[in-house]
Amino acid sequence: MTIQWFPGHMTRAKRQIEEKLKLIDVVFELIDSRIPQSSRNPMVDAIVGSKPRLVLLNKADLADPGRTAEWMAWFRSLGHEALAIDASSGAGCKEIPGKARELVRARIERQLAKGMKPRAVRALIVGIPNVGKSTLINRLAGRSAAATGDRPGVTKGQQWIRSGSELELLDTPGILWPKFEDPKAGNLLAAIGSIKEEVLQVDEVACFALQILAADYGHVLRKRYGLTELPDRLPDIRSAAEVLEAIGRRRGCLAGGGHVDYEKAAGVLLRDLRSGKLGRLTLERPAPAEVHAAAPNEL
Ligand code: GDP
Repeated sequence: MTIQWFPGHMTRAKRQIEEKLKLIDVVFELIDSRIPQSSRNPMVDAIVGSKPRLVLLNKADLADPGRTAEWMAWFRSLGHEALAIDASSGAGCKEIPGKARELVRARIERQLAKGMKPRAVRALIVGIPNVGKSTLINRLAGRSAAATGDRPGVTKGQQWIRSGSELELLDTPGILWPKFEDPKAGNLLAAIGSIKEEVLQVDEVACFALQILAADYGHVLRKRYGLTELPDRLPDIRSAAEVLEAIGRRRGCLAGGGHVDYEKAAGVLLRDLRSGKLGRLTLERPAPAEVHAAAPNEL
Protein backbone atom coordinates (compact mmCIF):
# COMPACT_ATOMS: atom_id res chain seq x y z
CA MET A 1 0.00 0.00 0.00
CA THR A 2 1.39 3.43 -0.87
CA ILE A 3 0.23 6.31 1.21
CA GLN A 4 1.49 9.80 0.64
CA TRP A 5 1.56 11.39 4.05
CA PHE A 6 0.87 15.04 3.44
CA PRO A 7 -0.26 17.12 6.42
CA GLY A 8 -3.87 16.91 5.24
CA HIS A 9 -3.71 13.13 5.17
CA MET A 10 -2.25 13.01 8.67
CA THR A 11 -5.06 15.19 9.97
CA ARG A 12 -7.60 12.93 8.28
CA ALA A 13 -5.95 9.76 9.64
CA LYS A 14 -5.96 11.25 13.14
CA ARG A 15 -9.63 12.26 12.87
CA GLN A 16 -10.66 8.85 11.56
CA ILE A 17 -8.99 7.14 14.49
CA GLU A 18 -10.55 9.56 16.97
CA GLU A 19 -13.98 8.69 15.52
CA LYS A 20 -13.28 4.98 15.93
CA LEU A 21 -12.06 5.44 19.50
CA LYS A 22 -15.61 6.31 20.50
CA LEU A 23 -16.68 2.79 19.58
CA ILE A 24 -14.05 0.74 21.33
CA ASP A 25 -12.77 -0.22 24.79
CA VAL A 26 -9.08 -0.88 24.09
CA VAL A 27 -6.46 0.04 21.55
CA PHE A 28 -4.01 -2.52 20.20
CA GLU A 29 -0.94 -0.51 19.22
CA LEU A 30 1.01 -2.66 16.79
CA ILE A 31 4.74 -2.03 16.49
CA ASP A 32 7.73 -3.85 14.99
CA SER A 33 9.77 -5.68 17.63
CA ARG A 34 13.01 -4.99 15.73
CA ILE A 35 12.59 -1.22 16.08
CA PRO A 36 10.06 -0.70 18.87
CA GLN A 37 10.68 3.03 19.13
CA SER A 38 10.99 4.00 15.49
CA SER A 39 7.99 1.95 14.38
CA ARG A 40 5.71 3.94 16.67
CA ASN A 41 3.77 6.89 15.40
CA PRO A 42 5.10 10.15 16.86
CA MET A 43 1.64 11.30 17.97
CA VAL A 44 0.16 8.03 19.13
CA ASP A 45 -0.12 9.08 22.78
CA ALA A 46 -1.97 12.26 21.86
CA ILE A 47 -4.28 10.41 19.46
CA VAL A 48 -5.11 7.43 21.67
CA GLY A 49 -5.35 9.52 24.83
CA SER A 50 -6.41 7.66 27.93
CA LYS A 51 -7.93 4.58 26.22
CA PRO A 52 -6.43 1.43 27.74
CA ARG A 53 -3.69 0.24 25.46
CA LEU A 54 -2.12 -3.11 24.69
CA VAL A 55 1.19 -2.67 22.89
CA LEU A 56 1.72 -5.62 20.56
CA LEU A 57 5.34 -6.18 19.63
CA ASN A 58 4.81 -7.92 16.32
CA LYS A 59 7.35 -9.81 14.18
CA ALA A 60 8.92 -11.01 17.42
CA ASP A 61 10.07 -14.04 15.42
CA LEU A 62 12.65 -11.74 13.77
CA ALA A 63 13.69 -9.85 16.91
CA ASP A 64 16.21 -10.53 19.66
CA PRO A 65 14.19 -12.25 22.45
CA GLY A 66 16.23 -10.67 25.27
CA ARG A 67 15.65 -7.19 23.89
CA THR A 68 11.97 -7.90 23.35
CA ALA A 69 11.70 -8.73 27.05
CA GLU A 70 13.42 -5.42 27.90
CA TRP A 71 11.01 -3.52 25.67
CA MET A 72 7.97 -5.20 27.18
CA ALA A 73 9.15 -4.15 30.64
CA TRP A 74 9.68 -0.63 29.32
CA PHE A 75 6.15 -0.37 27.89
CA ARG A 76 4.70 -1.72 31.12
CA SER A 77 6.63 0.92 33.03
CA LEU A 78 4.69 3.47 30.95
CA GLY A 79 1.43 1.95 32.15
CA HIS A 80 0.56 -0.06 29.02
CA GLU A 81 0.11 -3.79 28.74
CA ALA A 82 2.57 -5.41 26.34
CA LEU A 83 2.75 -8.69 24.49
CA ALA A 84 5.24 -10.13 21.99
CA ILE A 85 3.58 -11.80 19.02
CA ASP A 86 4.18 -13.23 15.57
CA ALA A 87 1.01 -12.51 13.65
CA SER A 88 2.24 -14.61 10.71
CA SER A 89 2.43 -17.87 12.63
CA GLY A 90 0.02 -16.87 15.38
CA ALA A 91 2.57 -17.31 18.18
CA GLY A 92 1.50 -15.27 21.21
CA CYS A 93 -1.82 -14.23 19.64
CA LYS A 94 -3.94 -16.52 21.83
CA GLU A 95 -3.07 -14.33 24.82
CA ILE A 96 -4.49 -11.20 23.23
CA PRO A 97 -8.18 -11.60 24.26
CA GLY A 98 -7.22 -12.31 27.89
CA LYS A 99 -4.92 -9.27 28.06
CA ALA A 100 -7.65 -7.12 26.51
CA ARG A 101 -10.12 -8.31 29.16
CA GLU A 102 -7.68 -7.48 31.93
CA LEU A 103 -7.52 -3.92 30.64
CA VAL A 104 -11.28 -3.46 31.01
CA ARG A 105 -11.69 -5.59 34.11
CA ALA A 106 -13.39 -2.78 36.05
CA ARG A 107 -16.19 -2.47 33.46
CA ILE A 108 -16.64 -6.24 33.29
CA GLU A 109 -16.86 -6.49 37.10
CA ARG A 110 -19.41 -3.66 37.22
CA GLN A 111 -21.59 -5.46 34.69
CA LEU A 112 -21.26 -8.75 36.53
CA ALA A 113 -22.20 -7.06 39.82
CA LYS A 114 -25.39 -5.80 38.18
CA GLY A 115 -26.18 -9.32 37.05
CA MET A 116 -25.47 -8.40 33.41
CA LYS A 117 -23.60 -10.61 30.99
CA PRO A 118 -20.49 -8.63 30.03
CA ARG A 119 -20.26 -7.96 26.32
CA ALA A 120 -17.18 -8.75 24.26
CA VAL A 121 -14.27 -6.34 24.57
CA ARG A 122 -14.14 -4.05 21.55
CA ALA A 123 -10.74 -3.21 20.13
CA LEU A 124 -9.12 -1.17 17.39
CA ILE A 125 -5.76 -2.04 15.88
CA VAL A 126 -3.56 0.96 15.09
CA GLY A 127 -0.09 1.17 13.60
CA ILE A 128 2.10 2.46 10.80
CA PRO A 129 2.03 0.75 7.39
CA ASN A 130 3.69 -2.68 7.09
CA VAL A 131 3.72 -3.41 10.77
CA GLY A 132 1.35 -6.35 10.28
CA LYS A 133 -2.15 -4.94 10.94
CA SER A 134 -3.94 -6.91 8.22
CA THR A 135 -2.05 -10.06 9.09
CA LEU A 136 -3.12 -9.70 12.72
CA ILE A 137 -6.76 -8.99 11.85
CA ASN A 138 -6.82 -12.13 9.71
CA ARG A 139 -5.14 -14.10 12.46
CA LEU A 140 -7.56 -12.96 15.15
CA ALA A 141 -10.53 -13.50 12.90
CA GLY A 142 -9.34 -16.97 11.95
CA ARG A 143 -10.20 -16.34 8.32
CA SER A 144 -9.41 -13.87 5.58
CA ALA A 145 -11.39 -11.06 7.13
CA ALA A 146 -9.25 -7.98 6.62
CA ALA A 147 -10.15 -7.88 2.95
CA THR A 148 -13.89 -7.59 3.58
CA GLY A 149 -13.73 -3.81 3.54
CA ASP A 150 -12.73 -3.95 -0.12
CA ARG A 151 -16.02 -5.52 -1.19
CA PRO A 152 -18.58 -3.06 -2.48
CA GLY A 153 -21.40 -2.56 -0.05
CA VAL A 154 -19.53 -3.35 3.13
CA THR A 155 -17.28 -0.33 3.27
CA LYS A 156 -19.97 1.93 4.68
CA GLY A 157 -20.05 2.18 8.44
CA GLN A 158 -17.98 0.07 10.74
CA GLN A 159 -17.89 -3.68 10.61
CA TRP A 160 -17.05 -5.76 13.63
CA ILE A 161 -14.99 -8.89 13.36
CA ARG A 162 -15.52 -11.45 16.08
CA SER A 163 -12.51 -13.17 17.54
CA GLY A 164 -13.73 -15.93 19.82
CA SER A 165 -16.45 -15.07 22.32
CA GLU A 166 -14.57 -12.36 24.19
CA LEU A 167 -13.20 -9.99 21.57
CA GLU A 168 -14.55 -7.88 18.73
CA LEU A 169 -12.33 -5.92 16.39
CA LEU A 170 -13.09 -3.08 14.05
CA ASP A 171 -12.45 -4.49 10.59
CA THR A 172 -10.43 -1.53 9.36
CA PRO A 173 -7.31 -0.73 11.34
CA GLY A 174 -6.21 2.80 12.17
CA ILE A 175 -3.34 3.58 9.82
CA LEU A 176 -0.83 5.95 11.36
CA TRP A 177 2.07 7.72 9.68
CA PRO A 178 5.66 6.76 10.51
CA LYS A 179 8.30 9.00 12.07
CA PHE A 180 9.96 9.95 8.82
CA GLU A 181 10.91 13.42 9.98
CA ASP A 182 13.42 11.85 12.36
CA PRO A 183 16.46 10.73 10.28
CA LYS A 184 17.33 7.89 12.67
CA ALA A 185 13.81 6.48 12.52
CA GLY A 186 13.73 6.93 8.74
CA ASN A 187 16.93 4.94 8.34
CA LEU A 188 15.74 2.19 10.68
CA LEU A 189 12.36 1.92 8.96
CA ALA A 190 14.14 1.65 5.63
CA ALA A 191 16.63 -0.88 7.02
CA ILE A 192 13.87 -3.31 7.99
CA GLY A 193 12.03 -2.63 4.71
CA SER A 194 9.06 -0.78 6.16
CA ILE A 195 9.42 2.33 4.04
CA LYS A 196 10.49 2.44 0.46
CA GLU A 197 14.19 2.51 -0.15
CA GLU A 198 13.86 5.06 -2.93
CA VAL A 199 13.06 7.64 -0.28
CA LEU A 200 16.57 7.23 1.12
CA GLN A 201 19.97 6.26 -0.25
CA VAL A 202 20.26 2.51 0.10
CA ASP A 203 24.01 2.62 0.84
CA GLU A 204 23.42 5.21 3.56
CA VAL A 205 20.72 3.04 5.09
CA ALA A 206 23.11 0.07 5.04
CA CYS A 207 25.93 2.12 6.65
CA PHE A 208 23.55 3.31 9.34
CA ALA A 209 22.51 -0.29 10.05
CA LEU A 210 26.15 -1.41 10.07
CA GLN A 211 27.01 1.08 12.81
CA ILE A 212 24.33 -0.41 15.04
CA LEU A 213 25.08 -3.99 14.08
CA ALA A 214 28.83 -3.62 14.71
CA ALA A 215 28.16 -2.31 18.22
CA ASP A 216 25.52 -4.84 19.22
CA TYR A 217 25.90 -7.84 16.97
CA GLY A 218 29.52 -7.63 15.77
CA HIS A 219 29.99 -11.40 16.13
CA VAL A 220 27.16 -11.95 13.63
CA LEU A 221 28.78 -9.69 11.01
CA ARG A 222 32.23 -11.17 11.59
CA LYS A 223 30.90 -14.67 11.07
CA ARG A 224 28.59 -14.12 8.12
CA TYR A 225 30.92 -11.92 6.06
CA GLY A 226 34.30 -13.12 7.33
CA LEU A 227 35.11 -9.68 8.76
CA THR A 228 37.81 -10.76 11.17
CA GLU A 229 39.06 -7.19 11.74
CA LEU A 230 35.68 -5.60 12.39
CA PRO A 231 35.90 -3.17 15.32
CA ASP A 232 33.03 -2.84 17.81
CA ARG A 233 32.59 0.81 17.07
CA LEU A 234 32.13 2.39 13.66
CA PRO A 235 32.30 6.02 14.74
CA ASP A 236 31.22 7.60 11.47
CA ILE A 237 29.68 6.90 8.09
CA ARG A 238 33.15 6.60 6.51
CA SER A 239 34.21 3.75 8.76
CA ALA A 240 30.86 2.06 8.08
CA ALA A 241 31.37 2.53 4.32
CA GLU A 242 34.71 0.71 4.63
CA VAL A 243 32.94 -2.25 6.21
CA LEU A 244 30.29 -2.15 3.48
CA GLU A 245 33.11 -2.20 0.93
CA ALA A 246 34.63 -5.26 2.61
CA ILE A 247 31.23 -7.01 2.51
CA GLY A 248 30.91 -6.10 -1.18
CA ARG A 249 34.32 -7.59 -1.94
CA ARG A 250 33.54 -10.81 -0.11
CA ARG A 251 30.25 -11.11 -1.94
CA GLY A 252 31.56 -10.19 -5.40
CA CYS A 253 29.53 -6.97 -5.67
CA LEU A 254 31.86 -5.32 -8.12
CA ALA A 255 31.43 -2.46 -10.54
CA GLY A 256 33.92 -1.74 -13.35
CA GLY A 257 37.64 -1.40 -12.62
CA GLY A 258 37.54 -3.68 -9.59
CA HIS A 259 35.60 -1.12 -7.55
CA VAL A 260 32.92 -2.25 -5.17
CA ASP A 261 29.34 -1.48 -6.15
CA TYR A 262 28.10 -0.02 -2.86
CA GLU A 263 24.45 -0.25 -3.80
CA LYS A 264 24.75 -3.95 -4.52
CA ALA A 265 26.68 -4.53 -1.30
CA ALA A 266 24.00 -2.61 0.60
CA GLY A 267 21.36 -4.81 -1.06
CA VAL A 268 23.13 -7.96 0.16
CA LEU A 269 23.34 -6.69 3.74
CA LEU A 270 19.77 -5.39 3.89
CA ARG A 271 18.30 -8.55 2.35
CA ASP A 272 20.17 -10.65 4.91
CA LEU A 273 18.97 -8.38 7.71
CA ARG A 274 15.31 -8.38 6.65
CA SER A 275 15.06 -12.07 5.94
CA GLY A 276 16.49 -13.08 9.30
CA LYS A 277 19.68 -14.53 7.78
CA LEU A 278 21.69 -12.50 10.29
CA GLY A 279 19.65 -14.04 13.08
CA ARG A 280 17.09 -12.44 15.38
CA LEU A 281 18.13 -8.82 15.82
CA THR A 282 16.73 -5.73 17.49
CA LEU A 283 18.15 -2.40 16.39
CA GLU A 284 16.93 -0.24 19.27
CA ARG A 285 17.20 -0.39 23.03
CA PRO A 286 14.87 1.24 25.52
CA ALA A 287 16.25 4.42 27.02
CA PRO A 288 17.52 3.73 30.53
CA ALA A 289 14.71 4.29 33.04
CA GLU A 290 14.57 7.88 34.05
CA VAL A 291 15.70 8.23 37.59
CA HIS A 292 13.45 10.65 39.36
CA ALA A 293 15.30 12.03 42.32
CA ALA A 294 13.09 11.71 45.36
CA ALA A 295 12.02 15.01 46.81
CA PRO A 296 14.03 15.69 49.94
CA ASN A 297 12.12 15.20 53.18
CA GLU A 298 11.17 18.26 55.16
CA LEU A 299 13.18 17.86 58.28
P1 GDP B 1 -0.07 -3.71 7.42
O1 GDP B 1 0.35 -2.75 6.35
O2 GDP B 1 0.21 -3.15 8.78
O3 GDP B 1 -1.47 -4.22 7.29
O4 GDP B 1 0.92 -4.97 7.30
P2 GDP B 1 0.66 -6.42 6.65
O5 GDP B 1 -0.28 -7.22 7.51
O6 GDP B 1 0.33 -6.26 5.22
O7 GDP B 1 2.12 -7.08 6.83
C1 GDP B 1 3.28 -6.53 6.20
C2 GDP B 1 4.26 -7.66 5.94
O8 GDP B 1 4.75 -8.17 7.18
C3 GDP B 1 3.66 -8.86 5.21
O9 GDP B 1 4.62 -9.34 4.29
C4 GDP B 1 3.43 -9.87 6.32
O10 GDP B 1 3.48 -11.20 5.85
C5 GDP B 1 4.58 -9.59 7.25
N1 GDP B 1 4.30 -9.94 8.65
C6 GDP B 1 3.23 -9.58 9.39
N2 GDP B 1 3.33 -10.05 10.64
C7 GDP B 1 4.50 -10.73 10.72
C8 GDP B 1 5.18 -11.43 11.77
O11 GDP B 1 4.74 -11.50 12.93
N3 GDP B 1 6.39 -11.99 11.46
C9 GDP B 1 6.92 -11.89 10.21
N4 GDP B 1 8.10 -12.48 10.01
N5 GDP B 1 6.30 -11.24 9.20
C10 GDP B 1 5.12 -10.66 9.44
